Amino acid sequence: MKAKYILLLALLVAIPASAQKIRVYLNPGHGSWGPDDRPMPTIPYPMLASTGRPDTCGFYESNTNLWKVLECGDRLMKNGNFTLKYSRRKNGPYPYRKGASNEARYNRSLSEISAEVDTWGADMFLSIHSNATSEGALVNYPLFLYRGTDAEDYVENSKAMCQKIWPRLTEAMHAGFEVMTHYNSSTNIRGDIDFYHSSWTNDRGITGYLGVLHHMAPGFLSEGYFHTYQPARHRALNEDWCRQEGIRYYRGIADYFGVHTDDTGCIMGQLHVYGQKSDNLEYFNAVSGSLDEYLPANGVTVRLRNTNDEVVATYETDQNYNGIFVFNDLTPGRYYIELKGEGYKTRQGKANPTVVKAKTTAYKSIYMYSGTSTPFDDETGVEELQGSASEVQSDEAIYDLSGRKVRSALPLGSSKNGRLPKGIYIMGGRKVVF
Ligand SMILES: [Zn+2]
Repeated sequence: MKAKYILLLALLVAIPASAQKIRVYLNPGHGSWGPDDRPMPTIPYPMLASTGRPDTCGFYESNTNLWKVLECGDRLMKNGNFTLKYSRRKNGPYPYRKGASNEARYNRSLSEISAEVDTWGADMFLSIHSNATSEGALVNYPLFLYRGTDAEDYVENSKAMCQKIWPRLTEAMHAGFEVMTHYNSSTNIRGDIDFYHSSWTNDRGITGYLGVLHHMAPGFLSEGYFHTYQPARHRALNEDWCRQEGIRYYRGIADYFGVHTDDTGCIMGQLHVYGQKSDNLEYFNAVSGSLDEYLPANGVTVRLRNTNDEVVATYETDQNYNGIFVFNDLTPGRYYIELKGEGYKTRQGKANPTVVKAKTTAYKSIYMYSGTSTPFDDETGVEELQGSASEVQSDEAIYDLSGRKVRSALPLGSSKNGRLPKGIYIMGGRKVVF
């Protein structure tokens, strides 16, 4: 009896602490695998003749929004300072049937969600979406919308949250990892009333434009990127890429509330095939001058080694034309990325480690070179390239072993060359032998 009594006391003591937790309401947009979920075609998952929509593994905004939210939510919970409510944690039901009694089970009405935000008493509200314009358009940038006008947020601190989280969300774009066609040196944070030139008042007397923002919690709706930008849509087929966006919201929310975040860091990379254009691909209209102009490398094994020469993780890029690889929860330090795939020269080397820092993601864009794949060399890790340096076109500068630059980066496709003597050089961070 005594033990039980102590346990009960412990529970009572725990209650005030949990009551002080920051209450975050998370809303992953859409949710039924129906026509409202913005299904769009991709190379591996085109529209099916039977439904006019792709297979549920294909692009549905509802899938990608959910992955982002779940990752953000998992990390907020692990952080310990937050308590959460989700508008949904699933998608479906499958198959979608218009008019079915369960059609809106995970695609709830926006007025129901916004009322729930207030009933629950959220300290913050975040709705996660992606943006769309005409299919195949070459625009890609984020947009944050809060309830109010551009001049005034109708719920105090909404704008401040946007401003604090914007730098985190745009990190991957500012790193050049994703195309950012606008707002490179500004923000795109807007009041929904001015953005849509319209407003209405709900039955609780709350005025705004977006139904999901008709509540009294500070926060915003994020359109993280444009899924009508086709290469980005192929990236979104990769759940880990979506989850990285969730991690960026998590870090931004932690920044805003001033709480400690993760002691670990991440690497997110993407692989493209050197010299092979992506312009023959269907659904792959790419921004000129961007990495998306090059074929993403499917099915490449990515190995991560630490400075003790231990393989700490392995990833295989998917078959969905994004070349994305992700390593999460890494102890800060230096790591080596090693690459091997059918039809590509194996790449490994120790000249240019990837530096992982706590609370951040290191973004790496790497080329695969067509050629014969060889097994990983666990002894030397020096990469051999055939021919002279002048024949190996590279958008990466070439250095000698003392670190002196011996040739500048050449634009891809350039016919320029500069003859170099045979020897060992550093290129793109790897030791290469010409
Ligand atoms: Zn949406």
